[in-house]
Amino acid sequence: MSIKEKLKEIKTSLPSEVTLVAVSKTKPVSDLLEAYEIGQRIFGENKIQEMTQKWEVMPKDIQWHMIGHVQRNKVKYMAEFVSLIHGVDSFKLLKEIDKQAKKHNRVIDCLLQIHIAEEDTKFGLDKNELHTMIASDEFQQLENISVVGLMGMATFTTNQEQIRREFKQLKTLYNSLEEKIETLSILSTGMSGDYQIAIEEGSNMVRIGSSIFGARNIH
Ligand SMILES: *Cc1c(COP(=O)(O)O)cnc(C)c1O
Repeated sequence: MSIKEKLKEIKTSLPSEVTLVAVSKTKPVSDLLEAYEIGQRIFGENKIQEMTQKWEVMPKDIQWHMIGHVQRNKVKYMAEFVSLIHGVDSFKLLKEIDKQAKKHNRVIDCLLQIHIAEEDTKFGLDKNELHTMIASDEFQQLENISVVGLMGMATFTTNQEQIRREFKQLKTLYNSLEEKIETLSILSTGMSGDYQIAIEEGSNMVRIGSSIFGARNIH
């Protein structure tokens, strides 16, 4: 199947309230344009340099999502154009995003990445760090970021019940934060291998790469 066919099939299978991020990391601009041609406007990348290069040459109505681990010293390269940063996993990083957004006179939407995987290889805040952060005055005073949701990655496993349990845990946390953070509206969970489970467990934003663009050689 072509990229267009695969994308169409996935889009028609998603409930209307679920937003699709087409994860295009490592793929050439020509592949992204195929998806663009049939209406895809949200693309996810995990390297700031690669995302910036694609942003420079591609149509300007694309929303670029940074889904990877972000190094603080590189935030400045995407602050002008990034539309959503999924992987905010420390208060320091959030403060740097705020600082760089201010320079461009904008507010950058962010998702807090929460550590839900039972394996300990994935990045993310744990619940204690999260609660300490959001209760602080410093957090309340950040004017150039908006925390619009949470992001999580399940353990890399074939154990579906474990994946479900991890997503469920994040949804419970999301619900408990809704009254503390008024801007919350996005729960970003689910990739090619587990997005159906993620949606059943409350995801409203899925990040799908290989099921649209095919397998990647690297990363
Ligand atoms: C690569 C990546 C995805 C997409 O993975 P696929 O399995 O190709 O769908 C989703 N989320 C993050 C954070 C990624 O790095």
